[in-house]
Amino acid sequence: LEVLVMALEALHEEAKPLGLEVSWLKTKVQSCELSHINVPVMLMPDDFKAHSKVRVDNHLFNKSQPVAIDSPGRSGARFYSSCDKMYIVKTLTSDEVEQMHALLKEYHPFVVNRHGKTLLPQYLAMYRLTVDSIETYCVVMRNVFSTFLKIHKKYDLKGSTVDREASVKELEKDLPTLKDNDFMKEGTKIHIGEEAKQQLMETLTADVEFLMRLHLMDYSLLLGIHDIAKAEMDGVMQNESEDDAVEEEEEDECSGVPTPPDSPNTAARERATSNGAIDPDVEIYAIESNENAPQREIYFMALIDVLTHYGVKKQAAKAAKTVKYGSNADGISTVEPEQYGRRFLDFMNQAIV
Ligand code: AMP
Repeated sequence: LEVLVMALEALHEEAKPLGLEVSWLKTKVQSCELSHINVPVMLMPDDFKAHSKVRVDNHLFNKSQPVAIDSPGRSGARFYSSCDKMYIVKTLTSDEVEQMHALLKEYHPFVVNRHGKTLLPQYLAMYRLTVDSIETYCVVMRNVFSTFLKIHKKYDLKGSTVDREASVKELEKDLPTLKDNDFMKEGTKIHIGEEAKQQLMETLTADVEFLMRLHLMDYSLLLGIHDIAKAEMDGVMQNESEDDAVEEEEEDECSGVPTPPDSPNTAARERATSNGAIDPDVEIYAIESNENAPQREIYFMALIDVLTHYGVKKQAAKAAKTVKYGSNADGISTVEPEQYGRRFLDFMNQAIV
C-alpha cells in the first residue's frame, strides 16, 4: 500500500489535469483494505486458518490486469500470469482447496527446515473470489518461468510412460507442453554436470519424500529450456534496439501502473537485453548447462500440481486403469504415492546428466 500511495503521489501532477485528486485515488486504494501484517516469529495452528474478507469495489482502478494463459492441463483449471511474469494465478477445485489447508501446516515447517531449499511450488496466497454469487478459488504462486528469456521447449514430466505424450492438437501450439514419452523419444537430457545434479537430486528427493509422507501424487516437474545459441541466432534479444524496447513497453498492456525502479519487473525487463546470464533474484529456478553440454541452455525447473491426495477417488482410478492395462501397474501414473515418488526420482536421475 505504501508503494502504491508513493506511486500515486508521484502521479500527482499527471492526475491533476484529469481532475483526479490524489486524496481521491488514495481512498480508492485504501477501500481495498490492503494492510500490512507483521509475520509472527512462530506460527500457531490458528494462523493456518486465518483469513480476511476484502471487498473490491473498483477493480478496474488497477489497470495492471493479469494475463490469461493457455493451459494444457486436463484439470480444466484456468491460469493467469501477472504482467511482470513473476506470478501465476491458478484456479483450484474444492478438493485442492481442502488439500491446501492440510498441506500448509506441514509445508511451512518443511520449507523452514530446508532453509528454503525446495522446488515445491512457492504458494503466496489463496483466495475465494465471489463475483455475482459465483465462487472461484485460486492460488497465487511463483511462475517457474519468471524470466524474460524465451522458453524454446517446455516439458511436463511425471516419470510415467502410459498416455504421456503431447496430443496432435497440443503440438500445433507455438510452445506445446511436451511429456515424458516426447522427452525420451527426442533423447532430451538436462545437462548440468555431476555436482549440480547431486544438489538438484538432493533437493528433489527431500521434496518427493515430503510429498510421499503426505500421500500426495500426480505432481510434475515443469521444465522449460532456453536455448542460448538459438536465441542469439534468432536475434530475439539482440535485434531489439533500445528504442524498440521502450516503444513496446509503452504499448504493453501491462504498462498501466508505474513500477518502482527496484522492483523485479524492471530487473527482468533489463535482463531481456543482456547475454543469457542468470539473475538469481528474478530467475530463481534457472540452472545453466555445464561446459560439457552439447548446446548452451538454461533450464527452468520446479515441481507443480502437488495437491492430489491419494484418497478414495485415486484408488478407484487405479483399479480402473489396472483393469484396462493389466495388473502390471508400473508405468501407469495412478500408482500409490510411494511408488509414484520413487518412479519420479528414478526418471529424474536418468534425465539429468
Ligand atoms: P497443472 O494443471 O498445475 O499441472 O499445470 C498445467 C500447466 O500450467 C503446466 O504444464 C504449465 O505449463 C503451467 N503451469 C502450472 N503451474 C505453473 C507455474 N507455477 N509456473 C509456470 N507455469 C505453470
